[in-house]
Formats: sequence, C-alpha cells, structure tokens
Amino acid sequence: MRVLVTGGAGFIGSHLCDRLVADGHDVVALDNLITGSTDNIAHLAGNPRFRFIHHDVTEYIFVSGPLDFVFHLASPASPVDYLTYPIQTLKVGALGTHKALGLALEKGAGFLLASTSEVYGDPLVHPQSEDYWGNVNPVGPRGVYDEAKRFAEALAFAYMRYHGLGVRIARIFNTYGPRMRADDGRVVPAFICQALRGEDLTVFGDGSQTRSFCYVSDTVDGLIRLARGGDPGPVNIGNPDEMTVLRFAETIRDMIGGSGRIVFKPLPVDDPRIRRPDISRAESSLGWTPRVGFDEGVSGTISYFREKLCL
Ligand code: NAD
Ligand code: UDP
Repeated sequence: MRVLVTGGAGFIGSHLCDRLVADGHDVVALDNLITGSTDNIAHLAGNPRFRFIHHDVTEYIFVSGPLDFVFHLASPASPVDYLTYPIQTLKVGALGTHKALGLALEKGAGFLLASTSEVYGDPLVHPQSEDYWGNVNPVGPRGVYDEAKRFAEALAFAYMRYHGLGVRIARIFNTYGPRMRADDGRVVPAFICQALRGEDLTVFGDGSQTRSFCYVSDTVDGLIRLARGGDPGPVNIGNPDEMTVLRFAETIRDMIGGSGRIVFKPLPVDDPRIRRPDISRAESSLGWTPRVGFDEGVSGTISYFREKLCL
C-alpha cells in the first residue's frame, strides 16, 4: 500500500512511519515541523519506500500518485504545545482535518483520525468507554485541543456518512516512549529528564490525579489494527494500567535515583482528575491489547533520554 502519515515527523507519527516501512508499505510523511523534527525520521532518509513533504495540512494538500490510506496525526499534542499554539491547534483540528479528509476522498483512500482521550475532558464516568460523551470546558485553555479533536471526529463521521469515506477514529490515551521532546512539558519526559539532571520533580497539584500510560509500540500497533479492520470506532487505544501522578513521580525517582526531591506546583486549569481507558472495544473488535509493561517501557524511555541528554 501507499500510505500518507500527517504529523509523520512527530513522536507517534515517526514510529508509525517506521512500522509501516518495516511492513513493506510506501510511506509519505507530511509535517510542518511545528512540534516535530526531521531528527525523528532522519534514519528513513534515502529509503526508497519513504518520502518527506514539508507542508502545513491546513493549506491545500497536494500529493502526486495514488494513496491507499491516510493516517491523520498532525496536531500539537502536549498541553504546553497546544497552549503555546492555541490558534494553530484549532486550525489543524478543523481546517487540517478537512484538507486531509478531502485528500483521502480524492484518492479513494481510507482515513484514520488520531483523536484523543481529551474528548472526554475531566470525565464524570470511570473508566472511560467510547459511549461516554465527555465533560469538556469549551472556553477553558485546554478547550483549543479538546474541541478541535471533537470537531475533527464530527467532520470525519460526516465524511463517512455523506461521502461513504472509509473512516476510523482512534481515541489515543497518554502514550510515551523514545522521541518525545525533553521539553514538551508532558509528565513522562518531564519527570525522567528532571531526575536524570538531578533536578526536583515537579508534581502539579497534590499528585492525586491519575493517568494510564501506554508504550508507543503498543499504540502504533493499535492504530494499524484499527486501519486494517472494519470498525470505524471511535476505539480507545490506551493501557488501562492507571496510577496517580505522585506515584509515577516516586517510581521515576526510585528508578533513576539522584538528588532531586518531589516538589508540588499549582495544578493547571481543567487538568483532568482521572483517566483510564475501557479497552473492551479494542480487545473485541481489533484483537488488540497492550503488550509492553510499565517497567519495560519506562526503562527503555529512560535509556533514550539518558543518551539524548548525554548523561
Ligand atoms: P507530536 O507533537 O510529537 O506530533 C505531532 C506532529 O504534527 C508534529 O510533528 C507536528 O510538527 C505536526 N503538525 C502539527 N500541526 C501541523 C500542521 N498544521 N501541518 C503539518 N504538520 C503538523 O505529538 P504526538 O504525541 O506524536 O501526537 C500525534 C497525534 O496523536 C496528535 O494528533 C495527537 O493529538 C494524538 N494523540 C497523542 C497522544 C499522546 O499521548 N502522545 C494522546 C492522544 C492523542
Ligand atoms: N504533570 C505534573 N508535572 C509535570 C508535568 C505534568 O504533575 O511536570 C501532570 C499534569 O498536571 C497531569 C499529568 O501530569 O495531571 C499528565 O500531564 P501530561 O501533560 O503528560 O498530559 P495530559 O494527560 O494532562 O494531557
């Protein structure tokens, strides 16, 4: 197959490109590098199965030749990034998704939207299953991301219903691993890099809020299975292994050691208090379940950042 990955120079997108190339597909990665980097795909340069296009998906997308599938991942994804780029985040979720859907329709390609657990906002049901409509503050600072993704989901399903486009929606929960940016502000690189540098670990609030962390190879496998299968979704892709942020900080401190203490900083506005995916739909419809355990995934990520920070 010939596949387009928007956001292909980002964290998850670059791992998805690797997997698709390894599976024998021809891959076109398209990215404007706002939060991604060509470092993430440099090892694919020169591979005849791989091509990179530097382009903003909110502008008309031209890709020559046939396309069988479009994975639409382009969007700032970390809270720090989408608060830095609020308008671009709304634009890429709305205009960018429109352009990517239009391209898929023109090429007769399937389409997968990388949506997010943030569509559930600060959830009032736990764990979150796909039939929960969410609790989002549209005018809060996180609304720029949450509402952009909610609009993107609605637009993708409108293309499916009106144009008959083969659409898939993945609601991805907190994914981590190598190639996250050390400074993207997300909790996994933040704590690991703070501990490696001997700095204090900055827990926001009292650390009682929970997250469920999924290793990137599992997330990529879930996306591929969703693309191949017949279920349009939305399907939650995440690891139900839930823990408090404080416990996560203590675990990272114990794994890395060092002189840093755990310090408490103000909780960001609208920070969800709890988050854990119900993955029964992914299990039954995709035969997917995460395989990489927390210790294995975190150890691999620590090694990556140790090398990256030259420690
Ligand atoms: P990332 O920031 O590393 O990757 C996103 C990529 O999209 C970057 O390379 C960026 O430059 C590119 N991009 C942004 N706006 C663009 C535009 N207008 N035109 C072209 N390219 C653009 O983030 P990530 O963690 O790899 O996230 C990838 C996707 O998965 C995002 O859509 C995100 O919303 C979704 N997601 C990620 C997580 C997670 O935990 N990592 C969770 C839920 C959803
Ligand atoms: N967090 C934290 N310290 C940090 C960065 C994040 O305590 O230095 C918390 C954040 O408030 C949230 C959780 O960790 O409760 C996960 O944050 P992240 O930005 O990784 O992703 P989110 O799930 O909020 O999108």
